[in-house]
Amino acid sequence: MAYAQIIVKLYQREQDRIYTYEIPEGMRLQVGMMAQVPFGGGNRTLEGFVLEVSEDTSYPKEKIKKIIRVMGQEPVFGERELSLARWMQKRYYASLSACLALFVPRNPDRTRETVKRAELLRPLTGKIGRMGENQRRFLELLRDNPGWTLSQCMKEARLGSASLRSLQEKGWIRCREEPEGIPAASVIFQKRSSPPLHPEQRQAAEEIGGAIHRGENKVFLLYGVTGSGKTEVYMSCIERALERGQGAFLLVPEISLTPQLLERLNHRFGDLVAVLHSRLNDTERSRQWQRIKTGQARVVAGPRSALFAPLESPGLIVLDEEHETSYKSDMQPRFHAVEVAREMARRGGFPLVLGSATPSVESYKLAQEGVYRLLRLTRRAAANASLPTIRTIDMRQELAMGNMSIFSQDLLEAMGQSLARREQVILFLNRRGHSSFVSCRKCGFVLKCPACYLPYTYHKDIHRMICHHCGRQAPEVDRCPQCGSSYVKYFGLGTQRVEEETAKRFPGARILRMDANTTGTKNAFQEVYEKIRDYQADIIIGTQMIAKGMDMPRVTLVGVLAADMTLFYPDFHSTERTYQLLTQVAGRAGRGERPGRVLIQTYDPDHYVLRSVAKQDADGFYRQELASRKLMGCPPYAHLLQILLTAREEEKTREGAALLRGIMEYYGKGRNYKILGPAPAELGRIDNVFRWKLLVSHPEEEKLIAYGDYCLARFQEQNRQVKVTADLNPVYMF
Ligand code: ADP
Ligand code: ZN
Ligand code: ZN
Repeated sequence: MAYAQIIVKLYQREQDRIYTYEIPEGMRLQVGMMAQVPFGGGNRTLEGFVLEVSEDTSYPKEKIKKIIRVMGQEPVFGERELSLARWMQKRYYASLSACLALFVPRNPDRTRETVKRAELLRPLTGKIGRMGENQRRFLELLRDNPGWTLSQCMKEARLGSASLRSLQEKGWIRCREEPEGIPAASVIFQKRSSPPLHPEQRQAAEEIGGAIHRGENKVFLLYGVTGSGKTEVYMSCIERALERGQGAFLLVPEISLTPQLLERLNHRFGDLVAVLHSRLNDTERSRQWQRIKTGQARVVAGPRSALFAPLESPGLIVLDEEHETSYKSDMQPRFHAVEVAREMARRGGFPLVLGSATPSVESYKLAQEGVYRLLRLTRRAAANASLPTIRTIDMRQELAMGNMSIFSQDLLEAMGQSLARREQVILFLNRRGHSSFVSCRKCGFVLKCPACYLPYTYHKDIHRMICHHCGRQAPEVDRCPQCGSSYVKYFGLGTQRVEEETAKRFPGARILRMDANTTGTKNAFQEVYEKIRDYQADIIIGTQMIAKGMDMPRVTLVGVLAADMTLFYPDFHSTERTYQLLTQVAGRAGRGERPGRVLIQTYDPDHYVLRSVAKQDADGFYRQELASRKLMGCPPYAHLLQILLTAREEEKTREGAALLRGIMEYYGKGRNYKILGPAPAELGRIDNVFRWKLLVSHPEEEKLIAYGDYCLARFQEQNRQVKVTADLNPVYMF
């Protein structure tokens, strides 16, 4: 009799146990496969991962249940995946099944069907001869989408079967049937020549290339201003890895998986590229997974989850925009892609490249200390492109002059000038979350918690200010504690209001609003981008998502309306985030031939973040930020573990939080652990579930991980009603 050790998909850390099941006679089951098994009493069935298969008969046989069925025909994970999943499980307080699930396509189960694909036999250049518009469109689709099925392309190009036959007869294409998941290798892709690298780029590419060649586990920080040609460097390094017969990951934040980037990758690497993004459906995703697994695709591009693709022998991981918070998962397991990539590169013995125009404070410090190798690109790469000029505008003075509008005089004037020159304007609204802080519009004073130095959050419903760090409260004020003015209010401004005001000021202008509400659907982002590119808009109003990735050569003016809005968010990251956002959005201006201008409206122009942005003094920013982090005992000088406690009754949640604090104090005594809270979470109640949090810090990551693990286990022995989740190195405060 054969048995299997199976871990079932329960996703609850407390239920993370391995169960023994009997393998029915004749069932082909291997380690690394998934199987369906009965679970608990009744008819409940669950999916599970097969960790071990053995003949061991030392189990009490009558209790052992039989596996119901095997999913798929082949293993979907191996030793390497299992071991990395175990590493993640410990580090991120997650269940092993949740970690393993990252590596496995969502439908390993489906039997393979066949599909029809067409293959392009000649390049689409030079003399093409007479052909119908939809025939040409069809051929272009084939060229640009090597993975598409025949019917997909025909539908998209509105091509009938007669026209298809004529293309076959003329020798343009060949059709064939093949099993789904293994697409035709298209014979032809047009390799667009890449520009010769500038000296700085070449130096960077050579150093990284050397590490690839030697199989050296080294981390590079490629720190280059926006438009300095980082992507060209990545591609040249990826090429090096391919030449050695290895593969490469190119990770990007979801938002910068733009058509532009994909086009560049496709032209360089053709169908060696597999793109994994969140808009793929399960079938498309598992098809890409198969292409990678079989070695047809060796360049894996995608957001953080792409790291778990089954690339056989990676020789390089590139992580673009490494400072982006979307690299941190907001679901279990709460992993950070940079951390996982570092571990993968360490295990595999190959280099990792972190690229950014605005590196995270952590990475900057590691580069300073020589843990990362720093490579800098200091100039914009394209001919004629230069960095924009940046200026801050003091909104307190506008108020003093009697201007109560959301626009300063200077910004209005600059907008008028740009529009008159038929150039485009971006109005950027720096906005995040639901909370608002309280500030004085006359003197700029921001009300802060006296213990944490972080801004209070205003709670309209109870007319009180709460510190979401330590829980301290204060009554709302109607006079500024600093200057006595009555212009104290909570700060908030939305894109809709900006749109209305803009329309009033510039009645003839074509305004395009771009925020989460207007770009929610599948192709909306692309449509907005095309409208900007095709000059169908004069003024583009947007939030965060406008700051990144897009090349918009006609934009010559960027106006930042309320720079302070994220600056005084009660999170120690907010200074860094604001610096990064403002620098990135400023980078949107002047990417074409015409020089760019950036005007930033603020109530606190002397704040070091705004001064560094205006002076384009990156090193100055990092110096001050690091000094302030050190003073506050924040990362990178300490590691943080953020713990969230949730329950349906507020009293229970609070009691649970107090109990956990007691446990942590007891076991942490005299060992340099700092515990903050309990405090209500920023969002104190979601869906009638109450949320409280605790924050623990310690200078050493490994110690903090072990301590957190231990304390949470003790807590769960004593309290089973409150749910706890832990978040190591959080990027947002709960
Ligand atoms: P980044 O990734 O740093 O924002 P990109 O690689 O996208 O920069 O380059 C910005 C622009 O400069 C692109 O249009 C790119 O084609 C161009 N470019 C990059 N490197 C060179 C080069 N060596 N010579 C000429 N143009 C270049
Ligand atoms: Zn004041
Ligand atoms: Zn506080």
